[in-house]
Amino acid sequence: MIEFDNVSMTYQKGAPLALRDVSFTIDDGEFVFIIGHSGSGKSTIVKLLTCEERPLSGTVAVDEYCLNTLKRRWVPYLRRNIGMVFQDFRLISTKTIFENVAFPLEIQGFSRKAIDRQVSMVLSTVGLRHREKAFPNELSGGEQQRVAIARAMVNNPAILLADEPTGNLDPVNSETIMALLEEINRSGTTVVVCTHDRELVNRMKKRIIEIDEGYLIRDAKESVYSDDVTTRMATNAARHMHEASVNIATATVGVDALEEAVVEASQQTEETASESVDQFQLRFSEEYNLQAKPDSNLVSSEEMTDASEQYKQETDRDEHSATDTIN
Ligand code: ADP
Ligand code: MG
Repeated sequence: MIEFDNVSMTYQKGAPLALRDVSFTIDDGEFVFIIGHSGSGKSTIVKLLTCEERPLSGTVAVDEYCLNTLKRRWVPYLRRNIGMVFQDFRLISTKTIFENVAFPLEIQGFSRKAIDRQVSMVLSTVGLRHREKAFPNELSGGEQQRVAIARAMVNNPAILLADEPTGNLDPVNSETIMALLEEINRSGTTVVVCTHDRELVNRMKKRIIEIDEGYLIRDAKESVYSDDVTTRMATNAARHMHEASVNIATATVGVDALEEAVVEASQQTEETASESVDQFQLRFSEEYNLQAKPDSNLVSSEEMTDASEQYKQETDRDEHSATDTIN
């Protein structure tokens, strides 16, 4: 089983995300197309499945392997369960067709007899047993891709991953390759094909996982490639959901910070309050001392009477002079 749970991924810190909150499950024995425009994130899904890249967040699992934390030394074991097919075939030009297909088994140390038997069998499956002594450049593109499929299947992997397997092929050869992948799937292998070939996908009516700008915008059984309007609407919906989840995360961080601030403030208030009480007591006693000094701040009742008398005389005098001026 293949499981993506809320997977986001970026190639560089701070760069736009290549995948955003992508979740899907692929059961054993399924045939699934991963479709989307160039740059939408299809190959990134493949790279996460083979541990060439690791997710930024979320989890990627293949059977019992959690790929987020899978140690380097276990990666070859994971890859033995996954056969890979690429757009550019990736055959070794100096080896014959037989040697190319035998290569993975040789690395794993199988006996000569077991290798002969197994290689002959897969070359028969792809219809190229009669070309086993040829070199890759003596074969057509379609034939080379069939050799690549044979090589991917030679140790009976549970999963076959094909990234744009028909990208370099004409429509007729593309049909043949797809028919072959379908046949491999019928024998029980899980097949995942990344492609942007609308025609092929529409004809085959398989499950489609559609990626756009890193968002999973569709996951539909027995589906056909959608038109651009539907795609755009689905992308917008996915974007809003992604932004909403980011906002919720930010809000949660905000609430946590607020809670912390409140706790801190209440501690501070206690401190500040006791500080204020201290300061108030100090100020009070200072003022009290000042007032207690009769020479500077207190006026005696005798002085008070003198002052009011003087004030009365002055205002009387002012009033008289004002009346004189008018007269
Ligand atoms: P697809 O296979 O659908 O064409 P990819 O998964 O290859 O898309 O790419 C998804 C995004 O990640 C694109 O924006 C692409 O430019 C970026 N990307 C892919 N590979 C790398 C890389 N090695 N380094 C930096 N960015 C990358
Ligand atoms: Mg790609």
